[in-house]
Amino acid sequence: DPLAPHFKRVLLKLSGESLGYGDNKLGISLDKTKAIAEQLARVAGRGVQLAVVIGGGNLLRGAQFTAGAETIKPATADYMGMLATVMNGLALQDTLEAMGVETRLQSAVRMETVAEPYIRRRALRHLEKGRIVILAGGTGNPFVTTDTAAALRGTELLADVLLKATKVDGVYNVDPKKNDYAEKFDRLTFDQVIQKQLGVMDIGAFEMCRLAKLPILVFDYKQDAAIEKAIAGQPIGTIVTG
Ligand code: UDP
Repeated sequence: DPLAPHFKRVLLKLSGESLGYGDNKLGISLDKTKAIAEQLARVAGRGVQLAVVIGGGNLLRGAQFTAGAETIKPATADYMGMLATVMNGLALQDTLEAMGVETRLQSAVRMETVAEPYIRRRALRHLEKGRIVILAGGTGNPFVTTDTAAALRGTELLADVLLKATKVDGVYNVDPKKNDYAEKFDRLTFDQVIQKQLGVMDIGAFEMCRLAKLPILVFDYKQDAAIEKAIAGQPIGTIVTG
């Protein structure tokens, strides 16, 4: 099986855009959500313990309100962003359950009627029982993004790897959208990322992974079976290790 898992426990950071419609990747597309869920279901079916930190950028990002800071405060905007991730989490949960995959949604923002509260030991139990754990609400704190939530949860849940599913297919020396000569790295060390001042993820999140020696794999979720290939250890994206 070319997709046999290489990692046992995985923290997958899915950007909200992966669920969005069309070119702008806004809203929640049932088809896109289903396509992602199908991959997650197959991964879980191969015995991988899977925790998913879901973003919210398809619905709302805190930064979009900075111009109106006299009205909606930055912290309020960030709490709104955290709530957006819960909506995505609910969509993903129902989609997975419709496929017969056992799933638990935990939120870092207390919301007991909608999701379990995030409790580390409970999340670990769910993972051991083969349930996909969807982690919504980010870190529960403003002024960071779901990258930080992914680094935090990946570290405390002792994941073997943090998969950052994004719209670029890896880490480049310069922005590939602006430069034709941009070159992609297949492998990097944490130190090289710092020396070369490369953008892998939010700096605080990156530093947390570096200290915990949690490898980060950055890859394009839009490629066919990308999540499955990443978990199978196939050469896809850029891997950052110690
Ligand atoms: N957010 C936050 N704290 C967190 C995680 C998220 O304040 O720990 C807010 C922040 O405003 C962010 C929004 O939630 O812009 C949505 O998350 P993110 O931008 O990370 O989503 P993604 O880009 O991954 O879809």
